[in-house]
Amino acid sequence: MTTYLLRDVSPLGEARTDILLADGVVAAIGSALEAPQDAVEIDGRGLVALPGLVDLHTHLREPGREDAETIASGTRAAALGGFTAVHAMANTTPTQDTAGVVEQVWHLGRRAGWVDVFPVGAVTVGLGGERLAELGAMAESEARVRVFSDDGKCVHDPVVMRRALEYVKAFDGVIAQHAQEPRLTEGSQMHEGVVSAELGLAGWPAVAEEAIVARDVLLAEHVGSRLHVCHLSTAGSVEIVRWAKSRGIDVTAEVTPHHLILTDELARGYDPLFKVNPPLRTQRDVEAVREGLADGTIDIVATDHAPHPREDKDCEWAAAAFGMTGLETALSVVQETMVDTGRMTWADVARVLSSAPARIGRVDGHGRPLAVGEPANLTLVDPAARRVVRPEAQASKSVNSPFGGRELPGRVVATFLRGRATVLDGAPCDGGSADAR
Ligand SMILES: [Zn+2]
Repeated sequence: MTTYLLRDVSPLGEARTDILLADGVVAAIGSALEAPQDAVEIDGRGLVALPGLVDLHTHLREPGREDAETIASGTRAAALGGFTAVHAMANTTPTQDTAGVVEQVWHLGRRAGWVDVFPVGAVTVGLGGERLAELGAMAESEARVRVFSDDGKCVHDPVVMRRALEYVKAFDGVIAQHAQEPRLTEGSQMHEGVVSAELGLAGWPAVAEEAIVARDVLLAEHVGSRLHVCHLSTAGSVEIVRWAKSRGIDVTAEVTPHHLILTDELARGYDPLFKVNPPLRTQRDVEAVREGLADGTIDIVATDHAPHPREDKDCEWAAAAFGMTGLETALSVVQETMVDTGRMTWADVARVLSSAPARIGRVDGHGRPLAVGEPANLTLVDPAARRVVRPEAQASKSVNSPFGGRELPGRVVATFLRGRATVLDGAPCDGGSADAR
């Protein structure tokens, strides 16, 4: 295995130092480290070193929709985005609702070798919302599932939600809820507000999200379990989670990069690239989620990377699929909205994109401090770089990025998974995945 000496990098954006990666771990940190004979030196001047990023919410589409993404293509995109671990959402075909399917996804992730893939288990059989899936069997499987979600659908029945919250306590699991009251959102096409009224599109009111968030924090408190709110998107949801935390309720929440930067005004062009669930909200909501992320009410940024083939997006708004890709732009959007605006430091970025998601997902070996003896999962970022996003040039099989043609700050220069480079000079290390097997 190659030994890497990262010269003059800035861990978490702080004072420059050298970092030696050998035998899969951080072997030494210090100034002017002596290079072992066979070490590959990387000039890290100007580069910020972060713990490898961890995504709690990725749709890899395999099994079932390999035309949109495969585990290999999606995890390659993840590595290019600076990630070393992703949680693969359960809404595949077949659904990830049995030990057999989650183990298949876990094995395919290992074989691809770009990042560690942690399958999310479905809460209910076939995401049907009625019968609990084999939560215990998935937890005890080789895939060691700890995060359960019907994402794409809401666990709307309060009795089913209560039972799920109770069940996962036995193995320290968490229910990640896609908070969408189904009756209030029937036929919804975008955020309900001034823009939807002007366009004549059926609206998705903020209360449809907030009502479920409020119900679920109370259920979590009642049964003493752990709740995670997926892709929180409204100012009201931020207030509810803030209140719940002040009460000591064990709730965590995520926001997506797109909800940190885009608004419902974009629907005016009827370009389905901006059609997403939950929908893009108002500028006031964008301000509220930024504030919530900065003050710790929102724990993490998760991509909700949702690749779709062209035929599902190149159509009229009403017929188009919901969702956007995000693995290869997430860090740049967080830099633009939170770091370059002075709201967060790089240490905060490491928290919301690495240590906190690893903790919520109960993932070992990721989200660890940059310290000697820790697994060498890290990423090097050039924050001074600027780039224009070109979806066709990205690794994802799908091109439904809302940021195509847009200039964003920051560039992932290198990513290391247990000391092995998956990305170097901003390019994937093809073929290098073999030694992960
Ligand atoms: Zn969702």
